Amino acid sequence: MAFTLSGDDAIQELQPSPIPEPYWVAFSSAAATLLNIPLKSDGYPQDDAWLNVLAGNSLETQSQKFSNPIATVYSGHQFGVWAGQLGDGRAILLGDIAGQELQLKGAGKTRYSRMGDGRAVLRSSIREFLCSEAMYALGIPTSRALSVVGSHLPVLRESLETAAVCSRLAPSFIRVGHFEHFASTQNIVRLKELADLLIDHHYPECRNNKNPYLDLFHKISERNAKLVAQWQAVGFCHGVLNSDNISVLGLTIDYGPFGFLDQFQVDHICNHSDHGGRYAYQRQPQIMHWNMACLASAFIPLLELDHSEVEAQTLLTSALSEFPTIYGETWLTLFRQKLGLSAEHDDDMDLIERLLQVMHDSKIDFTSLFRGLADINTNASVSKITLRNDFIDRDAIDQWLGDYITRLKTESSVDADRKVAMNAVNPKYILRNHLAQAAIEKAQRKDFSEVAKLLSILERPFDEQDQYQEYAAPPPPDLESIEVSCSS
Ligand code: AMP
Ligand code: MG
Repeated sequence: MAFTLSGDDAIQELQPSPIPEPYWVAFSSAAATLLNIPLKSDGYPQDDAWLNVLAGNSLETQSQKFSNPIATVYSGHQFGVWAGQLGDGRAILLGDIAGQELQLKGAGKTRYSRMGDGRAVLRSSIREFLCSEAMYALGIPTSRALSVVGSHLPVLRESLETAAVCSRLAPSFIRVGHFEHFASTQNIVRLKELADLLIDHHYPECRNNKNPYLDLFHKISERNAKLVAQWQAVGFCHGVLNSDNISVLGLTIDYGPFGFLDQFQVDHICNHSDHGGRYAYQRQPQIMHWNMACLASAFIPLLELDHSEVEAQTLLTSALSEFPTIYGETWLTLFRQKLGLSAEHDDDMDLIERLLQVMHDSKIDFTSLFRGLADINTNASVSKITLRNDFIDRDAIDQWLGDYITRLKTESSVDADRKVAMNAVNPKYILRNHLAQAAIEKAQRKDFSEVAKLLSILERPFDEQDQYQEYAAPPPPDLESIEVSCSS
């Protein structure tokens, strides 16, 4: 549902800036079905006008007219420090179709561009496109990506690259930063309008609560606690968990220097600009909690409409304190599923943590290991389990495998059934950095076939796709440590 705040203190009405000679790089026919766009047999829109619309060069197709594109203002905390006013510096919201907001990222400067050029490069646009659709297929709440449109327009980053526009979809792109903006400017009228808009369109059940804004906070915090548990369970690192990159719908948004873990390292940092490791894998839950604290602060004036200052703070502090429990319970549920445990035992947490420790110590490939565990024959001896050979400390993994098999036997686990259940939650295919990089390098040479192929593989991450076994493999040693920067 479109962002309905109006007025100069909230939005800028503007047109996208055109790019020269736009061309299709990628298109998600699955995302297009959300908008009911009729497609040709090649998966691209029947109506060619979509190319120009998704390039930011036109506002009209045969069936759609986007009469009111806008950029919105927000503020936020970047790397733990208050950054003041930010905003859609390169994202322009065209409008909404079928309950989805359609946003163009890289569509030119806005009032909120600060020192930026309003553009995105082909490399980062392909990464956002592929990861959005991959996350969706993994069952993780996310904004969707509809297309990438390229151009020869030069864009300067660490080196000279070319521009692209990624179009993305979400029921709403409202962020924690939007609330922080109006709270920090003490614009309580706007703050309330924003909360009411969110409740009316996305959290209508809060209206029935005697304290709708407190309930809204609860629900946003709950969704984000569950979201970050899902990230941990697939080894996803977001890379830039600034409060302006956190969705109030609990969606994964603003894909930048993200990365999926190859080797399991709890302190893995995917963003090479993150020198202190603030957004390292193991810190994500704590950081998301911190972001929810930023949101709670921004909600104080809303609660103060009906409560004293002390009451407002007490209520929000108490709601915020539920985050670790919700996160922890979700995490435990997800990892139990990953191990194929259907019953709940007191020492499951210990079993899971011991596995993660030996995986960390031996730098084991996260995705392959969990996928491989599904094949364990609980009647064979531990020494026959081939995945043990990947571990440096054989005694530790043998001990763990023995305990795991004993645990499975206590719930009379049936190997074949467990394998089906585990393969439905442990993906075979993830967007590994080296795979994205190979697709990007081809696309930079105007060959977009690898982007399309990766998309089709990642749309079925849990299926065995026999012809694509090599896409499931860990990176070869020379491609293990591709680093991705914030500059995109
Ligand atoms: P990010 O960390 O990529 O989410 O961006 C942080 C802020 O900088 C947001 O307000 C973005 O809109 C803005 N921004 C990032 N890159 C650019 C750019 N190339 N031009 C203008 N604004 C940008
Ligand atoms: Mg952002």
